[in-house]
Amino acid sequence: MGATRLEMGIVHPGKRGAGQDGAGGLAIGPGTGPLGWNPPAERSPAMSAAQAREPNPATQLDAVVVGAGFAGLYLLHRLRGMGLSARIYEAAGGVGGTWYWNRYPGARCDVESMQYSYQFSEELQQEWEWTERYSGQPEILRYLEHVTDRFDLRRDIEFNTRVQSAVYDEAASRWQIETQGEGEGEGGRHALSAKYFVMATGCLSSANTPDFEGLDDFAGNTYHTGRWPHHEIDFAGRRVCVIGTGSSAVQSIPIIAEQASELHVFQRTPNYSIPARNGPLDPDEVRALKARYAEFRAEARAEGFGIVNPFPLPPDQDPEYVPSPEELEAMLERNWEYGGLTFLNGAPGLVVLPELNELAAGFVRKKIRDVVDDPEIAKLLSPHTPVGCKRLCVDTHYFETYNQPHVHLVDISGSPIEKITPAGVQVGGQEYPCDDLVLATGFDAMTGALFGVDIRGRGGLALNEKWAEGPRTYLGLATRGFPNLFIVTGPGSPSVLSNMVQSIEQHVEWIADCVGYMEEKGLERIEAEANAEEQWGAQVNEIADQTIFPSCNSWYLGANIPGKPRVFMPFLGFADYAAICDEVVANAYEGFELA
Ligand code: NAP
Repeated sequence: MGATRLEMGIVHPGKRGAGQDGAGGLAIGPGTGPLGWNPPAERSPAMSAAQAREPNPATQLDAVVVGAGFAGLYLLHRLRGMGLSARIYEAAGGVGGTWYWNRYPGARCDVESMQYSYQFSEELQQEWEWTERYSGQPEILRYLEHVTDRFDLRRDIEFNTRVQSAVYDEAASRWQIETQGEGEGEGGRHALSAKYFVMATGCLSSANTPDFEGLDDFAGNTYHTGRWPHHEIDFAGRRVCVIGTGSSAVQSIPIIAEQASELHVFQRTPNYSIPARNGPLDPDEVRALKARYAEFRAEARAEGFGIVNPFPLPPDQDPEYVPSPEELEAMLERNWEYGGLTFLNGAPGLVVLPELNELAAGFVRKKIRDVVDDPEIAKLLSPHTPVGCKRLCVDTHYFETYNQPHVHLVDISGSPIEKITPAGVQVGGQEYPCDDLVLATGFDAMTGALFGVDIRGRGGLALNEKWAEGPRTYLGLATRGFPNLFIVTGPGSPSVLSNMVQSIEQHVEWIADCVGYMEEKGLERIEAEANAEEQWGAQVNEIADQTIFPSCNSWYLGANIPGKPRVFMPFLGFADYAAICDEVVANAYEGFELA
C-alpha cells in the first residue's frame, strides 16, 4: 500500500511554477473581482473606519479565512494575487497559529527546518536562513512574521478577532459571518458576508484542559503548553508538576528540570521518543541543498509522509522487500544515530507489519534501558504499544532527565489523578506538592477548532451535529451540506501524518485553483456529493486499517478526549493523496456538485 513509501513515485513538477507567488496564472486581475472590489491599497483604512461605525450592511468579501498560521497566510496571499477580496480573522494578537501559542520551554519543530518551510516562493526559500537543523518556536515565528511583511499580508488581517459563527445563506449563496473583536462594530461584533469561507484553524490548536477536580483552586501558577504566556517563566528554585508525557512534555521536561528544584512528572501512558540530534546547520550543506531545492522538495512530495527519506531503498529494490531482523537492526541503529522521525520512515514496513514494528519497539525500549539508571523507572518509561502508533516524540535528553535526583516519575496508569489541591496534585491519596502546574495535556485534535466556530450549512445544519458520530469529509477539504466551505488540512487529509507545511501548501493551492475555476466559469456553489464523501471516509479507514495506526489510544483517533467518537482522522499517504486531488481536478471536480 502507499501509506509509507514512494510506491506511486508521483511528482508534479508543473504544479508550482510561474504565478505561484500570486502573480497570476488565473484570468482574474486586480479590481475585476466578482464583487467589484477595490484594490486593497485604496480600500483598507477608509473602509474599516466606516465599517467600525456601521456594522450593517455586512462587509462584503469574496473570501473569509479563519486563522493566520501557515495555512491562512499563504491562502490570503494566493487569493489576493487572484484579484479577490480576502481577509483573515485571527483570535490571537499576531500571526503564527501554532507557533504563536506554543511558547513553552523547548518548543521546537521536529520536521527539519529545510523542509518545514514554504516552497511556493523560490525567492523566499532562497533568502531565508535557518540556523538549526530543527527550528525552535521563536525562529519559526520570526519566519512567519517575515513572510507576513514580505508579502504585505498584515493589512488584510484582523487580529484579536474571533469568528463566532458562519451561516450559509442559501438564497444568496453566501456565508453570513459574525466576528467578535476589539471595539469594532457594536460591542465588538461585526457582520461579514463572503462567497467562500475557509477554516485555516490548524489541527492542534484547541487546547485540551482535562476536567480535573479542584483545578481552579490550585494556589500556584497553572500553565498549558498550548497556551503559554508571552513573558519569560522562570522555574528556578520552584517545585513543578507536569501532567502529560506527549511531544510537548518530552520537549519541555528536560528544560524545566534544569531550573526547577523539584519536578514531578505524571505519566498516564509512556511514549516512544527518538533523539533529535539537533545542532547548527552547516552553511555548506545548506548552500548545496538550496542549489537543488526544487528537486529536494519534489523528493519530499513523492513520499508517504511528505518528508525526504535520507535512506531510500535502491530504485530496483523489490517493492515487497522486508528486511531480515539483522538488516532491520542495522537500519534502526543508523536511523537512531541520524535522529528524529527518520526512525519511522527510514526503515521499510514499520507501520504496516506488526512483527517488524515490534522489533523496532523493542529496539527503543532497549535504548531506554541503556539510558535510564533505575531499571524500575526505565520499565515505567517503556511503552508497549506499536512504535509510531501514537505520534512519535523527538527529544533532546528526555530519558536522561529521569537520572537526576530531583526528577520523579509518577505512574498514574492504574490510578488517575484524583484532584488538584491548592498545594499540588493528588494521586492514590498522596499529595505531590508544587508551586507551578504545567498541563502538557494536548489538544482536541483536528475537529476541536472547527467546532469552535458555530458553522451552519444548508437547512441550518450545524457542523458538530453533522459530525456527531465523527468527521465526514470529501478529501478532507469539504463536507456535504456546507457549500463553498473549505477546510485546510481537515480530517480525512494527510495533515498531521505528513509534513504539515507541505500539506498546507498543497491544500491552499487546490483551494485557490478551485476558487479560480469557479470564478472563471461564473459558478456560485461547490459542494461535496454524498456518495463521494461516503466513499472517501471508507477509503481513509480502509488504508488506516492496513497499518498499526488505529491499534492504540491516540489523538489521531480522538481517544484523548472523553466522549469523542473514535474515528481515525488522517489520510495515510501524502503522495497518493496529492495525486487523487489532482485527478479530481482533471476530471472537472469529480465528486463535487457545481452550480
Ligand atoms: P499529546 O501528545 O496529546 O500528549 C498529552 C499528554 O497528556 C499525554 O501524555 C496524555 O496521556 C496526557 N493526558 C491527557 N489528559 C490527561 C489526563 N486527564 N490525565 C493524565 N494525563 C493526561 O499532546 P502534546 O504533547 O501537546 O502533543 C500533541 C501533538 O502536537 C503531538 O503529537 C505533535 O503532533 C504536535 N507537537 C509537535 C511538536 C513538534 O513538532 N516537535 C511538539 C509538540 C507537539 P495519554 O497518552 O494517556 O492520553
